Amino acid sequence: MTQAVPTSNPPAVPVHLRIVPREQHSISRKNISAASLRVLYRLNEAGFAAHLVGGAVRDLLLGGRPKDFDIATNATPEDVKRLFRNCRLIGRRFRLAHVVFGNEIVEVATFRGSSDDGSGDRHVVDGRIVRDNVYGSIEEDAVRRDFTVNALYYDIADFSVRDYVGGYEDLARRELRLIGDPVQRYREDPVRMLRAVRLAAKLDFSIAPEARAPFDELGELLLQAPPARLFDESLKLFLAGSGLKSFHALDSSGLLADVFPLTARALAFRGGGAFRAMIERGLAGTDARIAEGKSVTPAFLFAILLWGPLRAQVDREIAKGVDATLAWQRVSQQVMTEQTRHVAIPRRFGVMMHEIWLLQPRFELRQKKRVFRLLAHPRFRAAYDFLLLRADESPELAQLGEWWTQAQTAGHDALAAQLGTLVPTQADAADAEAVADITDAPKKRPRRRRRRPDASAGASPTAE
Ligand code: ATP
Ligand code: MG
Repeated sequence: MTQAVPTSNPPAVPVHLRIVPREQHSISRKNISAASLRVLYRLNEAGFAAHLVGGAVRDLLLGGRPKDFDIATNATPEDVKRLFRNCRLIGRRFRLAHVVFGNEIVEVATFRGSSDDGSGDRHVVDGRIVRDNVYGSIEEDAVRRDFTVNALYYDIADFSVRDYVGGYEDLARRELRLIGDPVQRYREDPVRMLRAVRLAAKLDFSIAPEARAPFDELGELLLQAPPARLFDESLKLFLAGSGLKSFHALDSSGLLADVFPLTARALAFRGGGAFRAMIERGLAGTDARIAEGKSVTPAFLFAILLWGPLRAQVDREIAKGVDATLAWQRVSQQVMTEQTRHVAIPRRFGVMMHEIWLLQPRFELRQKKRVFRLLAHPRFRAAYDFLLLRADESPELAQLGEWWTQAQTAGHDALAAQLGTLVPTQADAADAEAVADITDAPKKRPRRRRRRPDASAGASPTAE
């Protein structure tokens, strides 16, 4: 991560300025947030260059509504601080100015020199932080960005769009093209491969053939990418409204195997079958929730993505004679440990994933007491939603989902009466023993693991 990069590079890519005047492009100030307009105007009045840049310009030109408006300027962060009372400086290696208006924060960045790779990860020579010569010209700022369509500048001085690397044409062609040599740019920052897949899915763009070609060879560089960064990127991939499209793009690009190797392996097995259908249904549901402005949790998403490998491994353990309770607990730990080597899943989400998973076998148990206990479980809702997503696994499971749907609306007395007459099947009884305590054990205290000599009799706690 700490490779020395010469700090006085000229732009590595030839730049050719094209100015698209106001009357030839579609960006209207009506669609720019009032707060960022104020920042742009103030900078400009003080004699500095002031541009909107990056995703905001790209999305405005495409007629979309940007979620944030980033500003690039030749003013230093200290200059910006002098101009705005409501400004704070953040970042140690590369200082950024945040201008705060109520709950809107406008990020103002000084043009960066070409020594910067844009990943936020470099600038260190021999372990020292290199601060000098970090600021650069607008040309240098443009060429260190990733894709040409992400390097367009909207100039508040004359409302034109400035294009140094051919991004305006690529935008019209709806194509993602890397600035500079793709192999070099991916080696500098492998996460750019994921960004290519994500932006292509989100924007309905194609990836230029030469930007797509290195994936097979360089994809494994993602195995060394910082897990925390891959977590952030995963959220942008799956929880930003285009999750299903992102999944398909990631799967067909081959990069899924470098970020979610367990998932990719489970999908490769006989085409993935029910597991693939579950992921697709889960992501379609997530996209719909986001479109309706509802909340989504990363825990549910990751629980889905890892369910296939978890399930298969639990079945193998149980077939080997491992106690079902123990198998569920052990395998869910193993799956989590393996995945977090790639993607850092924060602990609170990890806890919730375990709960969703370990409640699944408990849906099979329909004795009166257990049913009411499960209905009252704080994680019931998420686990039930998860159960419904698993409907493709077997017709029995679809029926089970149906049963729990009705159980929730039946009313206490009716349900109690029904359950009073429901004769537990033999499998129910065996499962009850094997599984009931999985999620009832007190939290935070280490659980005592009971090994029973006849554990294999319990078989799989689910009815497949
Ligand atoms: P989104 O709509 O998802 O926010 P975005 O392009 O705005 O897409 P950001 O992560 O917000 O993505 O990044 C803002 C800008 O910073 C990008 O448009 C690009 O110019 C630059 N950038 C971001 N990540 C990289 C990177 N890894 N390498 C080079 N430039 C980058
Ligand atoms: Mg952005």
